[in-house]
Formats: sequence, structure tokens, C-alpha cells
Amino acid sequence: MNKLLQNVNLAGASLFLQILGGNQSLALPHISVPDISWVDWPAVKAAGFKVCIFDKDNTLCEPFALAVPPALLPSFSACRAEFGGNIVLYSNSAGLQQYDPQGVEAAALEAAFGVQVLRHKDKKPAGGCEELQQQFQCEPHEMVFVGDRYLTDVVFGNRHGMLTIRVAPLTSQGEPPTVVAARVLEDACVRRWSASGIKAPLQQLLPHDQCSRLVKQKQQEQQQDQEQ
Ligand SMILES: [Mg+2]
Repeated sequence: MNKLLQNVNLAGASLFLQILGGNQSLALPHISVPDISWVDWPAVKAAGFKVCIFDKDNTLCEPFALAVPPALLPSFSACRAEFGGNIVLYSNSAGLQQYDPQGVEAAALEAAFGVQVLRHKDKKPAGGCEELQQQFQCEPHEMVFVGDRYLTDVVFGNRHGMLTIRVAPLTSQGEPPTVVAARVLEDACVRRWSASGIKAPLQQLLPHDQCSRLVKQKQQEQQQDQEQ
């Protein structure tokens, strides 16, 4: 039953309907990358951001896995080197009161990933970020939200004025059918809105034309490596 409830996100669906009829920019991320290894973490820090909030499944690891895949480990380590204890996992399963009331899964994740898992009562994209503000003593616009879902991760971060970074999902394996269906709808909507010129909401620390500074130029890097 818990698994079923985990897959039904009524607040999310309701917010998405509101977005369909109105503020579509909430679903558009400031930065889109294939995965977290494309993010230049020192540049994110240098831009003034103080806290990184990560979704877990299909962002940091495959769904229900308990380890960052080897290809993403250097990037995750680089993020930890920059942000230290100011990294938190915000999952719609582990740490969610309804699904993980005793925090058993959250504790297991903390042991596996070495970063804190937020205990919270609302599923993304609903809910506030007061706990995050209190804990890290900074404003939401100084936070970065990294996730693979437009409907949950991007909308949550944008609702609060955070910088939103969207990664492509690591895999389509192991995802519940409701999530697969939601993804198809989200992707189609976001493609259409982007094509019509709609952009992510204005971010207080980072104007739109500077977002690309936070993305690694991998081709250049590879070329330099070859030349050395
Ligand atoms: Mg996810």
C-alpha cells in the first residue's frame, strides 16, 4: 500500500494542472544537463549559492539503488568538496513522513551516501522550505535544486526561487508506470513551452544569460586532455 501511495502525487498533479493553465515557467529549469557530471560545482559555489539539494532516484542513482554510480562519483565528490555539509537529499520516498515515518530508509541512505536526508511531510512539488532555511541559515534563492523530474523537482525549486538544474533520468528501468506516464506528459509539455520561448523564472543570483557558466564545456576539456 505504501508503494502505491508513494506513486500517487495528488498535490503534484494538482499543481501541474495549475501550471498548464497559467504559470508554465515554473516547470522549466534554469539549467538542463545530461547528468550531474556536467555541472561545474566550483562555478556554482562562486556564483553565490550556498546549499545543494538533490533528488535521489534517477538523479544521483538508479531508482531504489543505494549507491552513486561510478561515472557520477567524481562529480558528487566535487560537489561535496565545495558545499561540505550543505548538501541534502530531498526524496519523495525516504524521509517522507507518510512513507518513511521512522526515518529508517532515510538513515540507510545517509549511511550509504554520506549526506543528510531531509525528514519532511510534504511531497515535492508541494511544501515549503522553512526547514531548509532554518537549518542552513540562508535564503531559498541561495539554494540549488537538482533533479530529474519537471513536475516534482523543478517545480518545487522554482516555486521557492531556487536555481533549478534538471538532469536526464539515469534509466527508465524500474520506474512505476505512473511515473513513466507522467514523464511522457511532462516532457511533451516542457518541449512545447520551451519552443514557444517560455523560460524558467528569474533567479535572483543568476541571470538567464549566465546559466551556461555553470555547465562544463566537456568537449573543450577532452580536447585539452588530448593536447596535454
Ligand atoms: Mg527522481
